[in-house]
Amino acid sequence: MTDLAAMDVAGRLPRLRDRLDDAGCDALLVTHLTNIRYLTGFTGSAALLLVLPDELVFVTDGRYGDQSAEQLAANGVEARIEVTGTEQDARLADAARGIARVGLEATHVTWAAKRRYAAKVFDGATLVPVDGVVEGLRRVKDPGEIARIEAACRIADEALAAVLPRLAEEPEERGFGLELDTTMRRLGAADVSFETIVASGPNGAKPHARPTERRVQEGDLVVIDFGALVDGYHSDMTRTVSIGEPSPAQRRMDEVVRAAQAAGVAAVRPGVTGADVDQVCRSIIAEAGWAEAFLHGTGHGVGLDIHEDPRVSTTGTATLEPGHVVTVEPGVYLPEHGGVRIEDTVVVTPDGCRPLTHAPKDLVLRWH
Ligand code: ZN
Ligand code: ZN
Repeated sequence: MTDLAAMDVAGRLPRLRDRLDDAGCDALLVTHLTNIRYLTGFTGSAALLLVLPDELVFVTDGRYGDQSAEQLAANGVEARIEVTGTEQDARLADAARGIARVGLEATHVTWAAKRRYAAKVFDGATLVPVDGVVEGLRRVKDPGEIARIEAACRIADEALAAVLPRLAEEPEERGFGLELDTTMRRLGAADVSFETIVASGPNGAKPHARPTERRVQEGDLVVIDFGALVDGYHSDMTRTVSIGEPSPAQRRMDEVVRAAQAAGVAAVRPGVTGADVDQVCRSIIAEAGWAEAFLHGTGHGVGLDIHEDPRVSTTGTATLEPGHVVTVEPGVYLPEHGGVRIEDTVVVTPDGCRPLTHAPKDLVLRWH
């Protein structure tokens, strides 16, 4: 994965600073590691990032002194790096002296941490809850980020193609999932995107079933939902296959979900909201009489997190913009027939969207 386009990590900080005044603060303490990674390129497990008006202070412990210096330099991020185990609060307090309003990431800071910051770190300042400012920047992916998600999607596509014929041997869900995971790693994934779902027969009627020891068998629909991780970026896809000839009801479920999914992808473009896309999928499934059987939202943003903004659901009020990466994944779940879900990851382009998932959507496998 060394041939991926570079990401403009250093360019993110000025955009964040531009938004701080609107967020009601003069400085922002970034504590959420995914956001720190986004702003600095640091991939370790312990850091704090204080974004001041004219300085960036990166605090970490002895394990990450060298790594943070290397990673920040490699990304062109200029920061004062403070390496300390026990004096983190004191170093932050020194750095923030004189700042009137310090923002904390409201959705990531615990009540206990907030009390400590108020009493011991930023005691002369007003603490401001800041909601989703870095996450807001993260919605729009730059070409380097899209390249990583696309590479992750490609690995997932290839891994599925490699292991699908194994379903003919009627494996256990767990073993099949493990083989899919191993194949993604072999193809270059750093990890899986999330715990792979392999849900066969009645298990498929539960949208987020965990793989069990159940053996896949003739007459099953098998829902396979999985993804690969490449340089911190996730992919997410679902395919549903029938073991043997599907029943008329199963075939009908597949036709309806496939039509809903295609219409949803066709609806993704700048200017529409996630709720608009959700409505397109939902109305097709409702027309078929299965409104109650579509048990979840249509999709979600994908990036450094597997589920992130913008949401593609009834509550997705955000307007889609070029560079957003979202999934479209309608499904129908009927306990007596199983489940069908089809999911692609797509990137919003100036005039529509470009699917990053390319695996075929055939319900019936022809491996003979
Ligand atoms: Zn998925
Ligand atoms: Zn998904």
